[in-house]
Amino acid sequence: MSTETPTAAERSDFIREIVAADLREGRHTTIVTRFPPEPNGYLHIGHAKSICLNFGIAAEFGGRCHLRFDDTNPVKEEQEYLDAIEADVRWLGFDWGEHLHHASDYFEQLYAWAVHLVKAGKAYVDDLTADEIREHRGTLTEPGQNSPWRDRPAAESLDLFERMRAGEFPNGARVLRAKIDMASPNINLRDPVLYRIVHAAHPRTGDAWCVYPTYDFAHGQSDAIEGITHSICTLEFEAHRPLYDWLIENLPVPSRPRQYEFARLNLTHTVLSKRVLLRLVTEGRVRGWDDPRMPTISGLRRRGFPAEGIRDFAALIGVAKADSVVEIGMLEHAVRDVLNRTAPRRFAVLDPLRVVVEDYPEGQVEEVEVANNPEDPAAGTRTVAFSRELWIERDDFLEEPPAKFFRLAPGREVRLRSAYFITCREVVKDEAGRVVELRCTHDPSTRGGDAPDGRRPKATLHWVSAAHAVPAEVRLYDHLFSRPDPGADGDLFADLNPASETVLRGCRVEPDLAETPAGATVQFERLGYFCPDPDSRPGRLVFNRTLTLKDTWAKLQAQGRHDTPQGGRG
Ligand code: ATP
Ligand code: MG
Repeated sequence: MSTETPTAAERSDFIREIVAADLREGRHTTIVTRFPPEPNGYLHIGHAKSICLNFGIAAEFGGRCHLRFDDTNPVKEEQEYLDAIEADVRWLGFDWGEHLHHASDYFEQLYAWAVHLVKAGKAYVDDLTADEIREHRGTLTEPGQNSPWRDRPAAESLDLFERMRAGEFPNGARVLRAKIDMASPNINLRDPVLYRIVHAAHPRTGDAWCVYPTYDFAHGQSDAIEGITHSICTLEFEAHRPLYDWLIENLPVPSRPRQYEFARLNLTHTVLSKRVLLRLVTEGRVRGWDDPRMPTISGLRRRGFPAEGIRDFAALIGVAKADSVVEIGMLEHAVRDVLNRTAPRRFAVLDPLRVVVEDYPEGQVEEVEVANNPEDPAAGTRTVAFSRELWIERDDFLEEPPAKFFRLAPGREVRLRSAYFITCREVVKDEAGRVVELRCTHDPSTRGGDAPDGRRPKATLHWVSAAHAVPAEVRLYDHLFSRPDPGADGDLFADLNPASETVLRGCRVEPDLAETPAGATVQFERLGYFCPDPDSRPGRLVFNRTLTLKDTWAKLQAQGRHDTPQGGRG
């Protein structure tokens, strides 16, 4: 497959085909989709797939997409999550306009519709406990049994349901169930629970309610209220679709939405489950929901992934109906593609080794001109101070270089990018025998980084001027989990990658990096992409490594070692 991101016009998948046909054949005139997060955690890259799909379809077909919080379980939901979700969807580049909705906005209407079902003999209050309900449910091969309360008179159910709402009963004492078919081969149709008693304050409705609708009862009806035409969800809801349709058919709802399912995103070396991500946070395994190792949108943002790279990734993986696992390298590839175009280049030395240019005058400073992005002349140039004392990368020097090591070594000449050629004359060591300084000379005729006689050293090094560079902490990140399939052996947390974060202190970076705005990712030449971390304070710079420069995914791709991921174009 090509690694190019498909344009909107080229993009198609089974859902877009359905939408296009519905418009063409007049079943709809306006397409309305929604993204329906439950505010019980932060959004992750899997949600980004759903966001790009729902908002993307609305934009491509001239419709609209709502942001609807599926806030029906007050026990797990918090205002912090509501706020973070809105910020993340916006940051990804999408806008719901005035269509910010909450399932809780519809609690009164949903309750009225539940009453409607009771009065029509299509729902009843059940006094069985949760365990008893489970025992009565049957299995995939055996039908369920009717609850003894299934045929209680509608008036009695109505009275009990009202008293449930009034707060007369404790949690779990009773539920409201739809009366469908306990023998249905689809377990979701075996008298599913529509309302449960939960005495808990809700982030939006406070103490107004102590009965809350289940996902199944709230979701489709909320879709109908909002005039959603295509209710797009992940595959695990496929078996819920008959219930979704049953409720729409049996209620006086104002519109008839339809549900379509696609395969959720799975990524190697990480986990996309809010429950697991919450545990990583609460158990202190990471710095928080926005830890740069987390697959959350806020974590990827803090890591320096641009929103455009995430959107490109969503386009690249496409949408399909078959479950699959996408290599995390593909996400990194999409991000590198954007950063390679957009990230300005800077000099930073992560593990500094002092270089003294002996034949360069003390106190002299030259401003050398350096390209901001060799791939993009429009990005212009900047000047960087050069002086007698410099820092270079410790691993760019070896006292006894092996055959293929072309960088600095005793007696050898290398190019300092955009500055001069230098030659190592002497190695200074401390008492422990550790190299602490290199005494070098420079060739003044190579100013700017080229020799008039055309000689070309085999290596070009980055550098910073010791007197001008500023100190920084740099955090190197790697995959959160060591193995591609975390937890495959049963113990997920045992697969956490102990090297997922390495903190380097005492790095030295170009002084203007202190002014890098939040959210801007730069390339430290030869090292990778880096962005300032929000932990930075005046006088204490912190950078995160977004990605290294090496794109192993694209390389394997070029060698034809990869299968086309789900829905990708071949
Ligand atoms: P959890 O994974 O913790 O069970 P959830 O991911 O289903 O919860 P929701 O807030 O209900 O959390 O998800 C909002 C929307 O995002 C849903 O429509 C859901 O189908 C979609 N979604 C969630 N995870 C993924 C994923 N990995 N890939 C694609 N879409 C996803
Ligand atoms: Mg869910």
